[in-house]
Amino acid sequence: MSQRSVLIIYTGGTIGMLADPRTGALRAMDLSHLEEQVPELERMGVRLGSVAFEKPIDSSDMRPMDWVRIARIIGDHYAEYDGFVVLHGSDTMAYTASALSFLLEGLAKPVILTGSQLPIGTIRTDAKENLITAIEIAAAYEGDRPVVPEVAVYFEYSLYRGNRTVKVHAERFEAFRSPNWPRLAEAGVRIKYDRASILPQRTGPLKVHQQVDDRVGVIRLFPGIRPDWVRHALSMPELKAVVLTTFGSGNGPTDKAFLDALRDAAERGVILVNATQCVGGRVEQGRYQTSRAFVDMGMLSAHDMTVEAAVTKLMFLLGQGLSDALVSERFERSSCGEVGGG
Ligand code: ASP
Repeated sequence: MSQRSVLIIYTGGTIGMLADPRTGALRAMDLSHLEEQVPELERMGVRLGSVAFEKPIDSSDMRPMDWVRIARIIGDHYAEYDGFVVLHGSDTMAYTASALSFLLEGLAKPVILTGSQLPIGTIRTDAKENLITAIEIAAAYEGDRPVVPEVAVYFEYSLYRGNRTVKVHAERFEAFRSPNWPRLAEAGVRIKYDRASILPQRTGPLKVHQQVDDRVGVIRLFPGIRPDWVRHALSMPELKAVVLTTFGSGNGPTDKAFLDALRDAAERGVILVNATQCVGGRVEQGRYQTSRAFVDMGMLSAHDMTVEAAVTKLMFLLGQGLSDALVSERFERSSCGEVGGG
């Protein structure tokens, strides 16, 4: 078997922080020190390459153009490597993973995002295991076929589909879940892949999309939400689409002023999407009276998509310059396993 190759793309986050031995303050590590920090990498039998953001960032500072930057790095090195590992802060990793799944159309190689809750240089760090196993997964091939030919998140012994992932804990090592999709793999003594849950191998060339439209908003409902506040939020000039995070299976207040604010926005051409604020389960518009009006005003359903996937998918689709009708049609359809049965 030929030696596999993996490109590590370092964007920032806790994983790459080093504690100053004198002050204890965290500072971003130079990527060239990675092998020093994790000597095990040399023994993995994988040819490693690396690229780093000039200035590594906390993932709370990630912007859509950074997603494009990562996608472009992957595109530029696509033929040269068998797999890719993106080192990323955990806070917005689910958004980046979702965005990459849309930007990398036709992806046929593993792109594994990972990070850590503790810096790589600290004694109880989770960074080493996350990094080593992410590389192993990115380099896992059977013959000439990658085992995981999709964008995935690896964290604390679990591999999840990137665009199904949500960050669920701020402190636990087990910080992620994919409530509406089975884990793609579990890393115990061996890495056990759940093949039925992994996307089928795609054929054809990779297309790296580079346009994202950020004129998208999110309104989270809560009991007592003021209609005038909703109307104000929806009045932003040039607003293209809004994800309304609703109760339960897609429900909201039946208050007339609230519904009028939404209807007026829909009539002005703002695309409205109904996504549940529940962590798991799906939207079923029209099941209760409290979502009937949403159907009537043409609100799209996010079905069982995460809010992270819904927001990044809208940014991606709007960035393609499609008509509103095409955005709406493509939004509800699965493009890379983000919604429905796969
Ligand atoms: N604030 C950090 C970040 O998301 C936390 C982490 O790295 O996990 O960049």
